[in-house]
Amino acid sequence: MSEFGGILVYIELDRNLNIIPVSLELLSKSVELAQKLENKTVSALVIGRCDDYAPIIQTLKETGASKVIIAQDDRLREYITQNYSKTACRIINEQKPEIVLIGATCQGRDLAPRISTSLNTGLTADCTGLDINEEGKLAATRPTFGGQLMATILCKTYPQMATVRPNTFKAVQNNNENTTVEYIDLSNEVFDNKIELLNFVKKFKSDTGNLSDYEIVIGCGKGIATEKGIELAKELAKELKAGLGASRAAVETGAFSKSLQVGQTGVTITPKLYIACGISGAVQHIVGIENSEKIIAINKDENAPIFKSADYGIVGDFFEIAPHLIWKIQELNKGNYDA
Ligand SMILES: Cc1cc2nc3c(=O)[nH]c(=O)nc-3n(C[C@H](O)[C@H](O)[C@H](O)COP(=O)(O)OP(=O)(O)OC[C@H]3O[C@@H](n4cnc5c(N)ncnc54)[C@H](O)[C@@H]3O)c2cc1C
Repeated sequence: MSEFGGILVYIELDRNLNIIPVSLELLSKSVELAQKLENKTVSALVIGRCDDYAPIIQTLKETGASKVIIAQDDRLREYITQNYSKTACRIINEQKPEIVLIGATCQGRDLAPRISTSLNTGLTADCTGLDINEEGKLAATRPTFGGQLMATILCKTYPQMATVRPNTFKAVQNNNENTTVEYIDLSNEVFDNKIELLNFVKKFKSDTGNLSDYEIVIGCGKGIATEKGIELAKELAKELKAGLGASRAAVETGAFSKSLQVGQTGVTITPKLYIACGISGAVQHIVGIENSEKIIAINKDENAPIFKSADYGIVGDFFEIAPHLIWKIQELNKGNYDA
């Protein structure tokens, strides 16, 4: 039997020391995956330095962590790749989880390869699906060949590591009554000080908000990426209190900002409702929306692949359909249910 066991999730904190959503999404998924493993321990690893860990521990407990490991040190107040990866490697070497999961955020994408290289183990990056196969191994799925294929990758070495895109899984409450908390003493740890963070400047400011905050997202494709099409999509979004997303082809027309791109090289979203307007349904787009609760597609080509992923489809011209939809929703919003 392997000396490795259980799952360890790296818990990323934002600059206000709040847990970022993808860490909780991974923790929830790990609780589910662990049911298929012999060792069902799900550890949540928090690295950093904050004055009050109680709210963090409480959230991790409520999301189902069996163990919370807190590696705290003043020198870890700021994220520095070398120091965080050194700390993570030490804890992974001590705890020996068979699986290590990290969110595919900027920090996670920076940290995970460092850890896997130091531990001489494999890493499947940017996954869109995770499972445990019949042999009890992590089966990590991600797009490959430019998104033409979905590959399920097994790691030959331990721990098996993966980074996972935000919004791939849902964070659910799963209170664990028996969560234990372990504080790691790092006072004797030697960190090299080659890198020092002097200042943090947030350069990118999204003018569009976070697409993940919307329950409804209107996806704008190349088929509607004209002035009139955008105007209609915005009006529809306003009536539905929805966010606007776009396909890569629509972004490439210059009509939409890159921050709105949904899909393999954009963001992954899981709204309650995704309305794909003039989007053909390329696999690279679908990977970003497939976990939406419901998908409605409006496309004038009845053979468009998007209809295979949609729960409801409207075959027709968006420019004719949208005004009717907007009018209908306006009437419903006014309380006129006979409209
Ligand atoms: C490595 C790689 C990464 C990629 N990453 C992404 C990604 O992150 N996100 C992404 O979206 N794409 C991505 N792509 C591009 C992807 O392959 C498609 O090219 C793109 O999604 C197509 O966008 P579209 O559906 O808007 O445009 P098209 O494929 O051109 O489709 C337009 C659709 O609009 C319909 N239409 C036209 N006029 C109307 C009308 N008046 N009313 C209704 N329907 C109409 C047409 O029937 C057609 O189906 C990637 C590609 C590669 C190779």
